[in-house]
Amino acid sequence: MEELHDLYQELVLDHSKNPRNFKKILNCNHSAEGFNPLCGDQITVYLKLEKDLIQDISFLGSGCAISKASASLMTTALKNKTTKDAFSFFNKFVQMVRGENNQGTNLESLGKLQVFKGVKEFPVRVKCASLPWHTLLAAIEKKNGKISTE
Ligand code: ZN
Repeated sequence: MEELHDLYQELVLDHSKNPRNFKKILNCNHSAEGFNPLCGDQITVYLKLEKDLIQDISFLGSGCAISKASASLMTTALKNKTTKDAFSFFNKFVQMVRGENNQGTNLESLGKLQVFKGVKEFPVRVKCASLPWHTLLAAIEKKNGKISTE
């Protein structure tokens, strides 16, 4: 368990300090802003959608290490995936961080995103970890979305 804990810390720290895809896509055609007033996390997700394919995905924003690392790992997981994959990832991820995943849910497909499994022990952080994902959904559904966790 100690090792797992270290891995979790390391990956989250790495992605919060050096977030991947931390930029605005110049020719993005979908975007959304997300806000978590509880913690002060603010994020904008940019998408380049070609029909159902996520050709490119990026984000900008400021917030705690958890929200930033979650957004960074989300963008690396979803590039060149379909929006259907994105919805599936969203459901699994949100269930996982809320600790609602029943035994029937296979989390293996989440890959590195499984490091956020431990978040369920910290209810205050659940919104931080899931904010990028709610913002992503808003971006897929609208060309210019806005969401708040409150
Ligand atoms: Zn936060």
